[in-house]
Amino acid sequence: MARNKLDKTNRAHAAEPVARAAAPASKLETKAEIERRGVSASPGIVIGPAFVRDDDRVHVPRKLIDASQVGAEVERFQKALADTARELRAIKSDIAKRMGEDHARIFDAHLLILEDRMLVDETTAAIQNERQNAAAAFERVINNVIASIAGIEDEYLKERTIDVQDVKKRVLRMLIGKDTRTVNRPSEPSVLVAHDLGPSDTAQLDRRMVLAYVTDLGGRMSHTSIIARSQGLPAVVGLENLVNRVETGDTIIVDGNAGSVIINPTPETIQQYENEMQRFAELEEQLLTLTGYPAQTLDGRSFTLSANVDAADEVESVLDHGGQGVGLFRTEYFFISQDYLPSEEDQYKVYRQVVEGMGGRPVVIRTLDIGGDKIAGYLHRSPELNPFMGWRGIRFCLTRKDIFKTQLRAIYRASAHGSVKIMFPMISQIEEIEQAKQICAEVREDLAKERYKIGDHVPLGIMVETPSAVAMADQFAREVEFFSIGTNDLIQYTMAVDRGNSKIAHLYQHLQPSILRLLRLTVEAARKRKIPVSVCGEMAGDRLSVPILVGLGIDEFSVSPNVIPEVKRIIRSVTYDECRALLRRVSRFRTTQEIETEIEALLKSHAANNGRAGA
Ligand code: PEP
Ligand code: MG
Repeated sequence: MARNKLDKTNRAHAAEPVARAAAPASKLETKAEIERRGVSASPGIVIGPAFVRDDDRVHVPRKLIDASQVGAEVERFQKALADTARELRAIKSDIAKRMGEDHARIFDAHLLILEDRMLVDETTAAIQNERQNAAAAFERVINNVIASIAGIEDEYLKERTIDVQDVKKRVLRMLIGKDTRTVNRPSEPSVLVAHDLGPSDTAQLDRRMVLAYVTDLGGRMSHTSIIARSQGLPAVVGLENLVNRVETGDTIIVDGNAGSVIINPTPETIQQYENEMQRFAELEEQLLTLTGYPAQTLDGRSFTLSANVDAADEVESVLDHGGQGVGLFRTEYFFISQDYLPSEEDQYKVYRQVVEGMGGRPVVIRTLDIGGDKIAGYLHRSPELNPFMGWRGIRFCLTRKDIFKTQLRAIYRASAHGSVKIMFPMISQIEEIEQAKQICAEVREDLAKERYKIGDHVPLGIMVETPSAVAMADQFAREVEFFSIGTNDLIQYTMAVDRGNSKIAHLYQHLQPSILRLLRLTVEAARKRKIPVSVCGEMAGDRLSVPILVGLGIDEFSVSPNVIPEVKRIIRSVTYDECRALLRRVSRFRTTQEIETEIEALLKSHAANNGRAGA
C-alpha cells in the first residue's frame, strides 16, 4: 500500500493535474460545469482528469463470424482454454511452494471446470452452428452454468459459482486479449471514479496513478474511506449516480473538505479551487510545525498520540507527523490485498518492519479483523447475509485456529525486535478472550520449545467495540492489560447503523449522548483496574470529539498519521479542567446537536491558539 506523506503528496498532486486540466480548452467550452454533493470521506482538494472504472466488467464483443473463420475461431477457443490452464497451473505451483499443497488444491476445481465436456462442447457448437465469435459463445454457455448452479439449494455447490466466475473471467481475458485488471486501472495520474470500491480495491490502488477517488456508494466510516484518510488521498463518497455522468478524460475537481465534486469546471472555478488548495497547503504546513511539541493541555495533562496504520510503509508517515507509537495496526489489509493466505514468514517480515521502523516505540498489533467489508476471496467463499454481524474478527480466528496461531507466531516473533502489544478485535463475550489468551499461551510455549526469541512482556488487550463489551467492561478489565475503544464499530452496533451506508449517515454521529455514556462506562471500568484506555476509532481524530475525550481522561488517541498534528493542536489549546467541566455539562444533554453546539463554543473561544503556547 502506498505511503501517506501529507506534507508532500497533496501539493505534488495539486500542481500536476491543474496544468493538465487547463489544457483541453475545447473540452471546457463544450461541456457544461456540473456540481454534485456527496459525503466527505477524506480531506484535500485535487483537480485532474477522471478515470471511470468499469466495475471489473469485461466487455465481450459480439459478432457474426464468416463461415470461413469458424475453424480458426474454434482453435482460438481451444488455445484460450489451454493458456488459461497453463496460467492456473503456474499459480497453483507457486502457491504450493509458498503455502503448501493443501492451499494449492483450491485450483484443482478451476482446472476441472476448464475440462468440463458440456462447457467445451456447447461453446464449440455455438461457434460452429450459430457462427458466434468464441468470447460471446463461451460467455453465454458459462453464464447458463452459473445461473443453474446458483439456483440449487446446496451451500457447497453455491460456493462453486465463485470458482466458475473466476474461470469465466480468465478465459474471457485470454480471448479478448486484455487484462481486465489493468483495463480498470488508470495509466496516468487521475481521479478514480467508481460505482463502489471495496477495502481491498483501495488498499491496492497505485498512489502514483490515483490522485483522489469518488464513488456512488459508501459512507464516511467505511473501511474504504478510512484507508483514504490514512493515505492522505482526498475522497468523496455517496455521490449516487456520478459514474453515469462522467466520462474518462473529463476534468474533475474533488473537494474532499466540502464533500463535493465538480465535473468540467470553468477556468474561473479552477482558479478558485487553486486558491483554496494553496490555503489548505499552508494550514497543513503550519500544523506540521507542532511535531516536536508534546500532546499536553495548557494545565499540564499529557496524552499519548499514536497512529493507526494499515501497512508497513506507513511507518515513515507516522514518525513524520510526530506519532509516539502505533496504536492500531490493522493487519487484515495485508491479507485482503493479495490472492493467497500469507505465511508465517511473510507476516513476520511485515510485523518486524513496523516494529523496527518505530524504533522501540509501542506498536499495538491487532489480530486479523477479517470479515464485514474486509473480505479475502480465498477465505470467504460464500457471502453472508449480515457480514458486519457475522464471521468477523475474533469469531473468524477462533474457528480458524490454524490461521490465528500462524499470525500469533509471527507477531510474537516480531516482538523480539521492539515493543509489541497484541489486541483482539470484535470481542463480545468473556469466553472469547479466555480462549484467545489460552491460544497465546500455547503459541508462546511452542516458540520457546523451538528456541525463538520473543519480547519479555507482550501485553494483551481488547478492542471495546461491541455494546456487549462495554456492558461487561468491568469483567474484561480483569482479563486484559489494556482497552482500545473502537468507536467506528461501537457506534455502528449501538445505533444499529451500517457504517458504510450514506443514506443513514445522519444516525452515525460520534457525539450521540448514548455513545458518550458507553465511553464513560468503559473508561471507569479501566480506571478501577488501573489499565490504560485508548480510543482508536475515527472519533479520536474528530475535531469536536477531542475535548470530550480529553475530559474523559483517556490515556491515548490513536488516529490516521496525518490527523495527529490537528489533534495535538486542539489538545494544546484547551485545559483538562475545562474539558472535564464541558463533559459534565454535556452529559445532561439529550441530543447530539446540543452537545456539538456546546463544544463548538469552547473551541471557538480558543480558535486563535495555534498550539505553540505552553510546554
Ligand atoms: C473501530 O471499529 O473503531 C476500529 C478502529 O476498527 P475498524 O475501523 O478497523 O473496524
Ligand atoms: Mg472495528
